[in-house]
Amino acid sequence: MNLIPLPAFQDNYLWLLHDGQRALVVDPGDAGPVQSYLDANGLQLDAILVTHHHPDHIGGVDALREATGARVWGPARERIPEPLTRLADGDRIEVLGLPFEVLDVPGHTAGHIAYFCPGFQGAPLLFCGDTLFSAGCGRLFEGTPRQMFDSLSRLAGLPGTTRVCCTHEYTLGNLEFATAVEPGNTQLIHYRQQCEARRSRGEPTLPSTIALENQVNPFLRASQPAVTRAAHGFNGADPADPVAVFAALRQWKNEFR
Ligand code: ZN
Ligand code: FE
Repeated sequence: MNLIPLPAFQDNYLWLLHDGQRALVVDPGDAGPVQSYLDANGLQLDAILVTHHHPDHIGGVDALREATGARVWGPARERIPEPLTRLADGDRIEVLGLPFEVLDVPGHTAGHIAYFCPGFQGAPLLFCGDTLFSAGCGRLFEGTPRQMFDSLSRLAGLPGTTRVCCTHEYTLGNLEFATAVEPGNTQLIHYRQQCEARRSRGEPTLPSTIALENQVNPFLRASQPAVTRAAHGFNGADPADPVAVFAALRQWKNEFR
């Protein structure tokens, strides 16, 4: 099996998984890069997995379905191009012989879902759409801080070895913010250097892992004293209330330059 982040638009990754013959793609916002990769590698597209309804995640679904006959799966409660099989929390599907479990992770959008594969070449795999980014998280377009906090807490509780396939290359910008929140986090400083080197070589910073995100991502660290102090300094958030701390961090990041 090969796990490939196909770059699209400014900073999206369309994640493609294939075994040399058959492929699945997650959130194909643009059919072009996917079709080119399939053609260049002689692959049959079996499946399209969709996490949420934003155009940069579904724009290529119709064209790819028509060109390849791929089956489409997506969230139960969002407007996604039909026909598709709708999924909600706890549903299990098998794609390319791999089991995937569906997690409801509302917050970025109201019906956002994630796909978790418990075992794939020795470690779990997570396709989390725009919920979790490396060192960051999605904006709250349709959900409350409480919902997003709960969704992120669920993802943070997955096995540490889980590879996290985020759909945007926002890592360096997120790390700049994370460093402003936690300037004394040595793992964060080290990770930032690694990511800067990767980007200067033109390489993706992803996939990340859950263990790493728990160490460097301020949005998963709303109970850490350094983070609660910083959030309190930003807007007076109650350090004992992780949801208030999370909401402060999200607002701070929205305004961060
Ligand atoms: Zn989105
Ligand atoms: Fe997106």
